[in-house]
Amino acid sequence: MAKVKVLVEGYARKSGNIYEATCSTVLIEDAGKRIIVDPGCNEALLLSALKKEGLSPNDIDLIFLSHYHVDHILNIRLFPGKDVLDGNTIYRGDKELFFEGKIPGTNIEIIETPGHTHEHATLLVKTEKGVIAVAEDLWWWEDGKQKTDKKTLLSLKDLYAKDKKALLKSRKLILKKADFIIPGHGKMFKVEK
Ligand SMILES: [Zn+2]
Repeated sequence: MAKVKVLVEGYARKSGNIYEATCSTVLIEDAGKRIIVDPGCNEALLLSALKKEGLSPNDIDLIFLSHYHVDHILNIRLFPGKDVLDGNTIYRGDKELFFEGKIPGTNIEIIETPGHTHEHATLLVKTEKGVIAVAEDLWWWEDGKQKTDKKTLLSLKDLYAKDKKALLKSRKLILKKADFIIPGHGKMFKVEK
């Protein structure tokens, strides 16, 4: 069974005139591979979280990106030379290798979840606790505003959503499939069944 660990809990807040945010960064270990999902943009937090696990960037096999927003991506510069994946492509230097369904060499399922952005994808990971969805910006909250009752989860406004209808459809799909959800900015929560 795969192991899932939230290395950095995503946050989003205003601090004077400045907005401060980084996303949830997740370590998945499955089939002998170590995968970082959305490395975020807070270098110090990520490096110290890896260190706590006894890891350095070089111990990571690949980086998965849920979507192309910079607060989710900037830290790929800490992992030079590593494969970077989105929902259907491995980027290896100037090579693009296409795949479907699962992260190659693992049991981690990739579900297309457009809405927040067109290319947004969610990972479903089978663990001993149940199915954990690394759903990133399907749901995100500013600090202190998170609410996870079903009504809120289906009606939560996303100021950045590119396609609200698609977002709702993606949210419904993941709520059906997941026991736990890791949001882009906020705490992991259990899905009410
Ligand atoms: Zn985003």
